[in-house]
Amino acid sequence: MKPIRKNGFTLIELMIVIVIIGILAAIAIPKFQDITESAKYAACRSNLRNIAGALNMYAAENGEYPGAFQGHKWKKLSYISDYVQVGILCPSTMASYRFRITGRDYDLFRIRGWNGNCVRNHGMYRNSVYQP
Ligand SMILES: [Zn+2]
Repeated sequence: MKPIRKNGFTLIELMIVIVIIGILAAIAIPKFQDITESAKYAACRSNLRNIAGALNMYAAENGEYPGAFQGHKWKKLSYISDYVQVGILCPSTMASYRFRITGRDYDLFRIRGWNGNCVRNHGMYRNSVYQP
């Protein structure tokens, strides 16, 4: 009497397939998360660059950076709402951005996400230059 052979997979075969899919997922998911985080990092740098551009446009039209007379206080983007979207956030840390006019002549600025993680991971503008 021959053994009955049905079409289909045995339990062992299915388990091997499941294990292989699990291994592939374990490799792919962290890489996907890296890509997502690096995209957010790039978006944050782009935000910082846009704010720097807005500050320069403000200075070009008004002859000084916004709120320069107020010294070193960190300022919200509402000062430059004509030039940049006020509500932009760091897409990774959800930090809002602030800027500060530095230097005796008030001709330089710093911009950072208003959150330690954003500054630590995404850098800031210092003296008009992006510093990672
Ligand atoms: Zn950021």
